[in-house]
Amino acid sequence: MFNVAKSERTVVVVEDDPNIADLVDVYLREAGFRVLQAMNGERGLELITQHQPEIVLLDIGLPDIDGFEVCRRLRAKSNVPVLFLTARDGEIDRILGLELGADDYVTKPFSPREVVARVKAILRRGQADERADADVLHIGDEYRVDVTRREASCREEVVPLATREFDLLAFLARNQGIALSRQQLLDGVWGVDWVGDDRTIDVHIRQLRKKLGDELPLATVWGIGYRLG
Ligand code: CA
Repeated sequence: MFNVAKSERTVVVVEDDPNIADLVDVYLREAGFRVLQAMNGERGLELITQHQPEIVLLDIGLPDIDGFEVCRRLRAKSNVPVLFLTARDGEIDRILGLELGADDYVTKPFSPREVVARVKAILRRGQADERADADVLHIGDEYRVDVTRREASCREEVVPLATREFDLLAFLARNQGIALSRQQLLDGVWGVDWVGDDRTIDVHIRQLRKKLGDELPLATVWGIGYRLG
């Protein structure tokens, strides 16, 4: 792990196609990020080590070492979020299959706005993780989730929840404002090794709504999953 403090809102873009790199660069700068470009993998790793970016955008087809290898070397020393820029379906399979610790991917051709939106979403998620140590999570004014005591309450009244119901509520509470897919919820609450289907999530969500009442700001996001707050 790096010891140097992270620079604020720096993005390293590792991409050998200058048109794509420049396009992403323009939009990210407009969104307030500082952007550093690398045309190959080795240079990318150098920039990341020197500048401690908040996030890395990583092309896969690069002239020296490919994006997979860059990610592997990076993961040996850093947890910096990685957003892959991929050109082919086969690459997506590898990204998802290799447990490279990729945070997300976008498929070329992509809209630069989508890239900026993904970057922001990943960084929000990171901030949520940093807050994850907080013992007591608040959902609006009404609900409290005390992680240490494993107690959920509504207007000071404790609401008894089953183990997984509590875990799911705590996970949602830590990621408030973010639309989470059923798969993300399964991975986050049940663990990535758990083999289950989407119905598991739906059943538990139904229980949470029933037990915690209508004022719980838990929205169904059609085609995605659920969002708290
Ligand atoms: Ca390329």
